[in-house]
Amino acid sequence: MMTLPEPACTLGYTATQLGEILGDGVDVYRAWAVGKTQGVCEGEPWCTEPHGIVHFERDVTRFKSARARSQ
Ligand SMILES: [Zn+2]
Repeated sequence: MMTLPEPACTLGYTATQLGEILGDGVDVYRAWAVGKTQGVCEGEPWCTEPHGIVHFERDVTRFKSARARSQ
């Protein structure tokens, strides 16, 4: 099981984190995630600040491990 950083947002990873985690794979992720449910963080009361579109931890984890296996 790989270890990813703690999501900065209550709902998941921010766009910045996604880039840090996936590196070159971020474009592949975006293509893969088309049509999937995306989280939208609107800040309080759910989160400390509005992060906009966030990426669910389970999706990022799944994508990252599938990609690790295929390389
Ligand atoms: Zn947030």
